Amino acid sequence: MTDIYLEQNLTELREGSMIPPAPPGFKSGFVGIVGRPNVGKSTLMNQLVGQKIAITSPIAQTTRNRLQGILTTPEAQLIFVDTPGIHKPHHQLGKVLLQNAQIAIGSVDVVLFLVDGSVPSGGGDRFIVDLLTPIKTPVILCINKSDQQPADYQVLDENYAQLAAPHNWKSTKFSALTGQNLEVLLQLLITQLEPGPYYYPPDLVTDQPERFIMGELIREQILFLTREEVPHSVAITIDLVKEEAKITRIFATIHVERDSQKGILIGKRGSMLKSIGSAAREQIQKLIAGKVYLELFVKVQPKWRQSRLRLAELGYRIEG
Ligand code: GDP
Ligand code: MG
Repeated sequence: MTDIYLEQNLTELREGSMIPPAPPGFKSGFVGIVGRPNVGKSTLMNQLVGQKIAITSPIAQTTRNRLQGILTTPEAQLIFVDTPGIHKPHHQLGKVLLQNAQIAIGSVDVVLFLVDGSVPSGGGDRFIVDLLTPIKTPVILCINKSDQQPADYQVLDENYAQLAAPHNWKSTKFSALTGQNLEVLLQLLITQLEPGPYYYPPDLVTDQPERFIMGELIREQILFLTREEVPHSVAITIDLVKEEAKITRIFATIHVERDSQKGILIGKRGSMLKSIGSAAREQIQKLIAGKVYLELFVKVQPKWRQSRLRLAELGYRIEG
């Protein structure tokens, strides 16, 4: 029943918006954003599309699915693919994330290789250089967090420039958080694109169904409010979205691996779950621009990370 509901929403989304013909000289293309966890990939995408569609967090590895953000300007349409942070996989979920990131790299027109300019480059960055070296897609080295660079920033910049130099990658520096210098990045990106059509309606900012983003907004509050206590083994399913005249009722389940995690999520007399719920509700209200009633359930699903089948059941796209 819930699936039918989702399908209806998607159909409305597709049929509701018309794709006009692109003006002469219009450019378009797909832009992959890669980088080790926590360098600011999701922040960049949100800033570029001007809306919060990817969740961000001070804790590494927040983004799981490939998420497309769409930016349409008078001269170009850029479709950004936010990939999970690339790192060496330790378990089944890690392998899926890496695999998806590799697919993303191979199927885009330009790759933005994001690094954290406030800290020296490390093994994580070199691991990505090795992944990017064999591909033919143009790469732009993006030094992010320019607002947070230390006094000896030239040393760091030089450090990163050495990653790009052997491959002739262009490079640029900005702050995804403040937006400083992002117009330079955009111009650089547009010069790399070929003429092309509108792939999506000009007013659309993401290809993800609203439900997916709702789940992500709940997950974001869990990461924010419980910090390291509840590891990244939480997954959210949106079980029902019921649109009434004045309010949208949403029922969602938080899946965890252990009873102890369930305890943390619920908190003393339900206080934690209440905080998560009310913070997430506010975010979702902004997303749908309307009043929301949100009810959360917590369910223990042992060892879901190990099982690809369960990953698929919980709605993670496993590609390839
Ligand atoms: P991702 O894992 O690469 O997607 O990284 P996120 O976008 O989730 O960002 C990780 C953390 O870095 C968050 O706390 C962001 O607020 C922070 N961050 C991202 N971009 C910038 C930036 O340009 N400047 C500063 N100071 N912080 C940033
Ligand atoms: Mg992210």
